[in-house]
Amino acid sequence: MSTLPQLREIERLEQSSAQELLKWAVSDFGSSLAIATAFQLEGMVIVDLAARISPHVRVLTLDTGRLPEETYRMIETVRDRYGIAVEAVAPDSGEVEAMVTRHGPNLFYREVALRNLCCQIRKVRPLERALSGLSAWVTGLRRDQNDSRVDVRKVEEIDGKLKLNPLADWTSAQVSDYIRQNDVPVHPLYAAGYTSIGCAPCTRAVQPGEDARAGRWWWEQDAAKECGIHFSPEGKAERKLDVLLSEILEAKHA
Ligand code: SF4
Repeated sequence: MSTLPQLREIERLEQSSAQELLKWAVSDFGSSLAIATAFQLEGMVIVDLAARISPHVRVLTLDTGRLPEETYRMIETVRDRYGIAVEAVAPDSGEVEAMVTRHGPNLFYREVALRNLCCQIRKVRPLERALSGLSAWVTGLRRDQNDSRVDVRKVEEIDGKLKLNPLADWTSAQVSDYIRQNDVPVHPLYAAGYTSIGCAPCTRAVQPGEDARAGRWWWEQDAAKECGIHFSPEGKAERKLDVLLSEILEAKHA
């Protein structure tokens, strides 16, 4: 297993292509590297690129318990097409039980803080557990996906772990071209007008001209269209989330 690269190496990797970066990561980190994906277009490009480098690359997905049926079909598709056993990362059942008992199953529609709580329990905390055994992970983040992502770098070191975003400088046209040229499987919900895909109750198709992430948590007006995995809530929202989460953890252990 590789140690984390030094600053100069990180700057060099920042200039590399998606293929070069993935090749370096697969070779250096082996089984302590994993691709985290919800099988959106970018994630599938990453899976396709990485599978060409190694058929043993690890792929994990957050099985939040609220995914659309089409996403489960994508897991089957990836298994069939690439021979990769997708690792399903589930939330802690005690935390989900305590949250749903206290706030109801559809708490996310009531206020942003409760939506953040649900994302924390069903996505952020499970991912943190999964990443704890890894040295590096790969995402499909791109800078032009929305305003919160414009500063995404290809190589980031966070809490002693490497986060790689090989498509950071790709445009959506490049993603589409790669998919078409390489016959990469596409999540079925794109054909239904979705441009970003997450949990079933929190994602819908967008209208022509709308922002690509407008279909995520569409009922929220001013909140960031992020679940907390890549960009955490800040200030008041963070403090409210901390309070709600500690209530759930107390209830779980009561
Ligand atoms: Fe919960 Fe919706 Fe976040 Fe999924 S996207 S974890 S259902 S709030």
